[in-house]
Amino acid sequence: MDPIVVSGFPFDIDATALLANLRLDGDSEHAGIVRDMVRSAKAVARPKALCGVAYVQSRSDDGVVLDGVSFHSRVLAVNLKDAHRVFPYVATCGREADAWSEAISDVLYRYWADAIKQALLACAFQAVRDFIERHFQPGKTARMNPGSLADWPTSQQGPLFQLAGDPKSLIGVELTESFMMVPTKSVSGLFFPTETNFENCSLCPREACPGRRAPYDENLYARKFDKR
Ligand code: SF4
Repeated sequence: MDPIVVSGFPFDIDATALLANLRLDGDSEHAGIVRDMVRSAKAVARPKALCGVAYVQSRSDDGVVLDGVSFHSRVLAVNLKDAHRVFPYVATCGREADAWSEAISDVLYRYWADAIKQALLACAFQAVRDFIERHFQPGKTARMNPGSLADWPTSQQGPLFQLAGDPKSLIGVELTESFMMVPTKSVSGLFFPTETNFENCSLCPREACPGRRAPYDENLYARKFDKR
């Protein structure tokens, strides 16, 4: 895949929504501090992403080969059974925001800084999603992320980063030995064309997840992905 860097886009942080997420009264002293932190983070932050197109070269019951890189996942194999191309991506709040938050020592302020970096990551993810829509015009898509399902574990970040080129030098995102991303406020995955409404969350039983995008369907795996 030839990676394309998506950076330098305009971004904003909705301070009102952020304060609501943090359960802070907009008129409180703490809210004023968070607004100041948002201003200082925005002054230094450079959220960014990379993406591209990769082609399905072969498939088996339990995996696919994309541009010569092997991926092992029954769910991915089934989801890509009619797809010929996919759109891998990595998006991040950026090293700049990470460095900004590293200078904060107070535990509560660091918690707020984390929420601000999460909002920056959301801006980067939206920018790369919009870029893929405009640039590749893939039609209706769904997405999968390594680590969100037992079937496609975090270790599959390895081949995804191999496919994505060199995220470390391109956008400053690297993998630890345990395949966690640094900066931690980063996301990776791939979009794929589909006529269905697949969401990882439909297969994920995690309770009370704040990021849940679809209800857990305990029979979905047996219905759609089980080999029988
Ligand atoms: S429910 Fe939460 S942990 Fe599970 S796949 Fe969805 S966002 Fe990820």
